[in-house]
Amino acid sequence: NKKIAVIGAGIGGIASAIRLANKGFEVTVFESNPYPGGKLTSFTRNGYRFDAGPSLFTLPGLVEELFVLSGKNPGDYFQYIRLPDICHYFWEDGTTLVAKAEPEEFADEIELKTGESKQEILNFLEESAFKYQLLDGLFLQNSLHKLSTWISGKAIRGYLNLPKLGIFNTMNQANEKTFRNPKVVQLFNRYATYNGSDPYKTPATLNIIPHLEYNVGAFFPKKGMIDITDSLMKLAEELGIKFLFNTKVNEILVRNRKVIGLMTQSGKEEIFDAIISNMDVTQTYRKLLPGQKHPEKLLNQPKSSSGVIFYWGISNQFPELGLHNILFSDNYREEFEKMFEHKSISDDPTVYINISSKLKPDDAPAGCENWFVLINAPANEGQDWDNIINKTRNDVISKISRILKVDFEKFIENESILDPRTIELRTSSSQGALYGNSSNNKFAAFLRHANFSSNLKNLYFVGGSVHPGGGIPLCLSSAKITANLIK
Ligand code: FAD
Repeated sequence: NKKIAVIGAGIGGIASAIRLANKGFEVTVFESNPYPGGKLTSFTRNGYRFDAGPSLFTLPGLVEELFVLSGKNPGDYFQYIRLPDICHYFWEDGTTLVAKAEPEEFADEIELKTGESKQEILNFLEESAFKYQLLDGLFLQNSLHKLSTWISGKAIRGYLNLPKLGIFNTMNQANEKTFRNPKVVQLFNRYATYNGSDPYKTPATLNIIPHLEYNVGAFFPKKGMIDITDSLMKLAEELGIKFLFNTKVNEILVRNRKVIGLMTQSGKEEIFDAIISNMDVTQTYRKLLPGQKHPEKLLNQPKSSSGVIFYWGISNQFPELGLHNILFSDNYREEFEKMFEHKSISDDPTVYINISSKLKPDDAPAGCENWFVLINAPANEGQDWDNIINKTRNDVISKISRILKVDFEKFIENESILDPRTIELRTSSSQGALYGNSSNNKFAAFLRHANFSSNLKNLYFVGGSVHPGGGIPLCLSSAKITANLIK
């Protein structure tokens, strides 16, 4: 059997290992952490369990596909529910809105709370679906860097519909043209943050994202987000994939422009027929291939946003909140300028609160809630993070107190914090960015590295820093694209 090494047991690494094991390859996964999942992990503290990274789950079919491919019944391994309410939105002026899963109900709620026309919302969601379908068959399931993708029938259909894809407008320009109410513009602009981008710069093409939440659905794994990692690990182990934890790879071995194996931190050399790096692509080149030619232009692209996350054990319950909650800033444009131009965090940041104990009560002690509070933050460029975090913590606590009309700080029973530095340290993602390169210009899709190296034979890439992008669904798609490239 041909032997393949995967560097990193992030979700992209695990998924590609499963796909290759199904093709008959002998797969070994090298992971520097003592646990799998990379960003998709969880921890427990004083009776509170937290999903440490991703909290929003869309396209569960991409997870199920891996079980089906392996001849298993997905439901025996992994179960989830569809959310009836997707997100609770709050503004400083007292406006609140619950984004319902059913498009009709969602549009009714928006019309009721903001006066925006119901039909406009429904048209927007339909257009979002149309764009998604054009792009999905074309770029999200195929390599952007193979001629076959560009001359396919789907590509031709894409070219014919180019103006409709929104490449020539920013997301904000398109949304301001469509909606009259600034709150509705803000609500839909927020989807740019799903891949760490700036709605005032990213192309309107990203208006495909609401389609996933409203037309396809937002979901919650019954055992928490960590069950995506846990259930896939169970499957991977059943398929005979070998996982080596606490085993950092220090070098990819190259002879005559061909990858032949790797060397671990302990100095051990191992020979493989091919290597898939699930390590951030910039770090793969800089740290594991120091003597090779680097695609500098791609590697030096500005990074997506990172985040400051407060994991709070809260000794109270808030019935007005749901699983996903957004407390919007009053000046959205300023928030992104502060992040992407000034590399800092606004004094009034939008606050995202995820409370998994709403659906999974055993995630918190009785009468309490586990709050995952995320504030978008710039990628790490050596800022004075301790200062930024202290200030942001105060700003966030006052915002929550204002909006929920309580003296909130007294309910914080325990606290852990994740920030761009620690994200970088724990997963070696470049500058702690959550989604690799940013998509803050219309060529962004072309400024991501391919799923293979065109310079070194037998070297492949998977995960959030390469094509098609970050976030669980795109990482799972990248695993599919990469596995299909390996014959
Ligand atoms: P990563 O998770 O980046 O893992 C890479 C792995 O490689 C790590 O385990 C690392 O230890 C290992 N590794 C690196 N270098 C080496 C080496 N030299 N040797 C051995 N092992 C190595 N996505 C969503 O879909 N929805 C969300 O709601 C969402 N929210 C997020 C919130 C936060 C706080 C974070 C951090 C991320 C969020 N994301 C979300 C993004 C999502 O988590 C990532 O896009 C995805 O998990 C990245 O997976 P990956 O395959 O790229 O690997």
